[in-house]
Amino acid sequence: MPEGDTVFRTAERLRTALAGKTLTRSDFRVPRYATVDLVGDLITEVGSYGKHLFIRTDQVSIHTHLKMEGQWRVFHCGQRWTKPPVTARLVLANDEVEAVGFALGKVQVLRRAEEHTVIGHLGPDLLGPNWDAAEALRRLTEYPRRPIGLALLDQRNLAGIGNIYRSEICFLRRVHPATPVGDIDDLPALVDESHRVLGKAAHEPPWRPIVYSRTRRPCPRCGTAITSQLLGEDDPADRITQRERGIYFCPRCQPPPTP
Ligand SMILES: [Zn+2]
Repeated sequence: MPEGDTVFRTAERLRTALAGKTLTRSDFRVPRYATVDLVGDLITEVGSYGKHLFIRTDQVSIHTHLKMEGQWRVFHCGQRWTKPPVTARLVLANDEVEAVGFALGKVQVLRRAEEHTVIGHLGPDLLGPNWDAAEALRRLTEYPRRPIGLALLDQRNLAGIGNIYRSEICFLRRVHPATPVGDIDDLPALVDESHRVLGKAAHEPPWRPIVYSRTRRPCPRCGTAITSQLLGEDDPADRITQRERGIYFCPRCQPPPTP
């Protein structure tokens, strides 16, 4: 599942491709917006907040979310698409390029003033210009009994972290993912680490995980085999799916919390 850094870099690519240029074609392949036509409109900017992407004109904001499989690709006009056309959900083109959103989890056309309905509930954006560590800390500590491995995934606390980075952040801070938020020795340092990890992934790709998906490989610190565990229940209300439950850690460097 794409995380905040992927969305951030996607926004950069789409900004280069679309911003400051007039649309010569818009093709919404989702029933609800099938009749929307933005031909002749100028794309003024492209931005992201957490895992949400916004392509803006003066009046509207096209909100998209990659969810599990979504991907944006940019092609020169006339170039053959590198993914199945049937999975395209949105095509935006100008004189030079075609930007195609494949398998997008969400496509929505909002008025600019309505963007807050999508992101208003989210915590501070780890990759945003107004990153606010104190506010992230305040939100995390509202539920002190919650395991940190789940709290980091909750976009209402910090926006942008997914399954990969929560494992990495816990490893770097030597915190077992099941540790209740309120029992963590230095929570501000963990929040800062989250900011640092996401920033590095976004600005210095490619970034390679140390523990994520590395079951049975040696921990680079102590040599103990990395292990994985399912954390939390499948909970639609919590938006945690089976696929997101697996978390990776070193059982020696990250000892389980004492009950
Ligand atoms: Zn270790």
